[in-house]
Amino acid sequence: MTSNEGWLQQAPLLTAENWRHGWTTSEGPDFRGDPTSGDIVVGVTELVWTTGLEVGAWAHQVHGGRVLEVTERGFAGEADALWSVKPGLGVVGRSADCPLILVGGFRPDGSRIWGFAHASWRSTVQGITAGLILAMTEGGADPAGLRAVICPSAGPCCYEVRDDVRQTALKSLGPGAAWFFMEKSEGLFFNLWAANIAQMKAAGVAEEHIFNVNHCTICGGDRYPSHRRDGDQAGRFAAVIGF
Ligand SMILES: [Zn+2]
Repeated sequence: MTSNEGWLQQAPLLTAENWRHGWTTSEGPDFRGDPTSGDIVVGVTELVWTTGLEVGAWAHQVHGGRVLEVTERGFAGEADALWSVKPGLGVVGRSADCPLILVGGFRPDGSRIWGFAHASWRSTVQGITAGLILAMTEGGADPAGLRAVICPSAGPCCYEVRDDVRQTALKSLGPGAAWFFMEKSEGLFFNLWAANIAQMKAAGVAEEHIFNVNHCTICGGDRYPSHRRDGDQAGRFAAVIGF
């Protein structure tokens, strides 16, 4: 399913097209804390060099719906999705449970375009993943050719939410969002994976080009930091894509 190169995990779906990409495990750098701090610069540098990229760009992820194009290295401001066409520039997301979704594709001239979304529940109900695909399409990508990977994150097995989350989702995504929620005897569970796959498909991504690593950070052992499991002590891992 995934190849293991120490603390960097990669997806064959993206490796097959030679994407420089991957996501870190708990053994990699810790990406927690202030996104403008020196620790983040050091972690991003180690990550992008390990994947064969030159530099990285990252954001202050605020659980919103803002999608930004980046052309320069470094801190890009507030956003929950970044994309780029700048050779050597990786876009880097940080997480401890929220799905990070890596997307890569081609433009008509054969050049590449790539991005990531940080699909927390708040960003998901604001359409962050659809917004990323639409922005990349406006940037020249053929959506039918895009490849997307859902990195390890909170699975439908464990991601329990309050009913107000469901109400917010129904209000912003429409009645079809009911399918993303499951009532069990223990409570109400939100399937963030299904919600984001639906957004990608609606924006034109082919289902066979979406790969879900299908690893739950909450119940899947201590391979990845989990905010739900570890609380405020939780570290953060990161994911990157570029070319
Ligand atoms: Zn789980």
